[in-house]
Amino acid sequence: MNAASFGVIDPATGAEFARCPLATIAELGSTVAAAREAWPHWAATPIDERARHLEAIAAAIETEKDSLARLLSREQGKPLHTAAAGEIAAALMWTRATATLRPPVDLLQDDATARIEVHRKPLGVVASITPWNYPVLIAVWHIMPALLAGNTVVIKPSSYTPLSTLRLVEIANRVLPRGVLNALAGEGGLGQAMSRHPGIDKVVFTGSTATGRSIMAGAAPTLKHLTLELGGNDAAIVLEDAPVEKVAAKIFAKAFGNSGQTCAAIKRLYVHERIHDQLAEDLARRAREARVGPGDEAATQFGPLQNRAQFTLVCELAEDARTRGGRFLAGGRPLDRAGYFFPLTIVTDVNDDARVVKEEQFGPILPLLRYHDVDEALARANASENGLGGSIWSANLERASRLAKRLECGTAWVNDHATLSPLAPFGGVKQSGIGVEFGLYGLGEYMSLQTVRIAR
Ligand code: NDP
Repeated sequence: MNAASFGVIDPATGAEFARCPLATIAELGSTVAAAREAWPHWAATPIDERARHLEAIAAAIETEKDSLARLLSREQGKPLHTAAAGEIAAALMWTRATATLRPPVDLLQDDATARIEVHRKPLGVVASITPWNYPVLIAVWHIMPALLAGNTVVIKPSSYTPLSTLRLVEIANRVLPRGVLNALAGEGGLGQAMSRHPGIDKVVFTGSTATGRSIMAGAAPTLKHLTLELGGNDAAIVLEDAPVEKVAAKIFAKAFGNSGQTCAAIKRLYVHERIHDQLAEDLARRAREARVGPGDEAATQFGPLQNRAQFTLVCELAEDARTRGGRFLAGGRPLDRAGYFFPLTIVTDVNDDARVVKEEQFGPILPLLRYHDVDEALARANASENGLGGSIWSANLERASRLAKRLECGTAWVNDHATLSPLAPFGGVKQSGIGVEFGLYGLGEYMSLQTVRIAR
């Protein structure tokens, strides 16, 4: 290991609080070689035993959950006792749920001529590249199905939030054989080098659409398998019959959870003109009352933006809305303190051309858009190059379900948004991604199909 390191910033202060070992491209080579060497034995390990390793990892994480949550909160910014602890709890739940999965063997034909079986086999070495919004949970989403399927893994966390992922891997390696799970942290070119590396068979990536394109291009010469979970600009449509006092709390939570830094958060809220003002005022009151602050203060409900670039983007989107005549019912300008703090912001009276509507904000700023006719609202919701999630809110479940199916997105919710299940496929259509995660659908992405045809 070389002695180089890079700084990790505390988003609540904007100051460096730790240094992280910096991996070189040469270390990537030796790490991939270690993962390749470990692969045949891990692939030949019976799946029930691999699943027991996942359960043992969950047990090991459980014993470290408080210290892991503290590290996560410090580097990511999210409130310790709610969001950070909740992320670790979700990571545990997902690890255990993934351990129960078993890929099927399909029998397509079994007669006097032939027997045709379809088997699922691991791919080899999987590279996982993760973002900074849920560094522990998204690492688990990548690592656990890859390992259960019989692959070995090299993970590279975001250079903004490397520490909790490195710690997670350290904990998992107490129970895994050497070389099965490996982690490298580094800035800049490391992710790009992984997507090009000939010793890697698949890349699973969660992050921005631009980086997804770059990974796809890097992976093309070696024809790697890809799962890309990219940005979203999710629309929620609130119908005229939705009970405002009942839906407001949930809409608020699903727009502002993790300070809006969630790929499938509500990012555009289309509200029928009859209830628009009432819902806007309700959400604005909640936003004004919300406690934004450092993750380690007990009263904090919402932390800072995770990094300066994201903070600057949110400031720019608010400014653009202001110059276009947007009306701010809550928030709108950065807090006057150190760190990357932006208050929860509700803006109305912007049209669909404003940057805050057209672009993924990935921060605590929600535009409300008035509509008259639901067909018009659906057309506006679908007029996006993204297609991760979408939702319809109504008292009439039958009508809402019908309308939800017309949303062009990978997951359509009714009276909910961004709630994920370890068994249901999650992924984007259009430029929100390729492939899905979770359940047998997601597990299949870490395996190749092999048809076995036995002639009789
Ligand atoms: P990026 O997509 O740039 O980063 C995500 C991960 O990809 C990091 O580990 C990063 O490493 C790595 N990476 C960066 N460039 C490359 C490359 N060329 N090849 C391979 N890997 C690479 O996200 P940002 O942090 O820049 O966030 C920008 C935007 O992405 C946000 O505004 C948001 O819209 C979106 N985003 C979406 C997320 C989601 O969950 N869908 C999560 C995070 C961001 P390194 O840190 O070393 O650069």
